[in-house]
Amino acid sequence: MTLLSIEHLTKAFDGVQAVDAVSFDLEAGQLLALIGPNGAGKSTCFNMINGQLKPSSGAIRLNGRDIAGMRPRDIWRLGVGRTFQIAATFNSMTVLENVQMALLSHERRVFSFFGRVASWKQDEALALLDLVGMAAHAQRSCAVLAYGDVKRVELAIALANSPKLLLMDEPTAGMAPQERNALMALTAQLAKERDIGVLFTEHSMDVVFSHADKLIVLARGKLIAQGDADTVRRDPRVREVYLGTGASFAPRAVLSADLSAGESA
Ligand code: ADP
Ligand code: MG
Repeated sequence: MTLLSIEHLTKAFDGVQAVDAVSFDLEAGQLLALIGPNGAGKSTCFNMINGQLKPSSGAIRLNGRDIAGMRPRDIWRLGVGRTFQIAATFNSMTVLENVQMALLSHERRVFSFFGRVASWKQDEALALLDLVGMAAHAQRSCAVLAYGDVKRVELAIALANSPKLLLMDEPTAGMAPQERNALMALTAQLAKERDIGVLFTEHSMDVVFSHADKLIVLARGKLIAQGDADTVRRDPRVREVYLGTGASFAPRAVLSADLSAGESA
């Protein structure tokens, strides 16, 4: 069964169609990139899927069940995880404690981190940190981590909930190109190994074309193209949105180079 099936999803803010009758599918194990200029409606889509926003209309089916309009907590319990959601306590704890906390909250336990409970789920937490290449940093405070390492810890925290669907809104924002590629390569590998469907937004076309199995392009709330990297790269409407006048997607020169790169290859 299709993991995520979006049908005619629509959100209007004061008469403005931020997301306008968007439909697409995502299979387990697949990386689907949602791209488009600023204001295209990407975050609004994400926030409807995770329950932060109620759709004006349309369906969001997770393994066949319509979750549109459900509360964020209930959607999370059904296996929809997300990164980019640092808890307020993140910086006051070690890397290991943050992942332990996520594992415990997955079990819905009420707990205190002090005293004997500190060893709970330690092995499992270390195994997750090992997966994202952060086991050696387990005892460090999150406050002192490099930016790319914080992103890896965020990924381990998201995996602690054993998500079926992982939503990543601009997961590599602020990262250097090499780090971006490393994080998305790791995400792709884990998605395949664990059969997780990943929906992500990303500004670097290089990262998108390298790691996404499928792309969805939004412009002014409407889905204007979808398919694999080659299909989307060649789509005249996509080229217009990215390269034509009025596109707010930057830097244009880089995108232009990225879009043409595939043609000579
Ligand atoms: P993206 O993530 O693709 O940059 P967004 O989903 O954030 O785009 O925004 C899509 C459109 O919806 C924009 O025109 C934005 O101004 C508008 N919008 C987003 N959130 C709100 C809100 N809470 N209230 C009013 N308008 C909003
Ligand atoms: Mg956004």
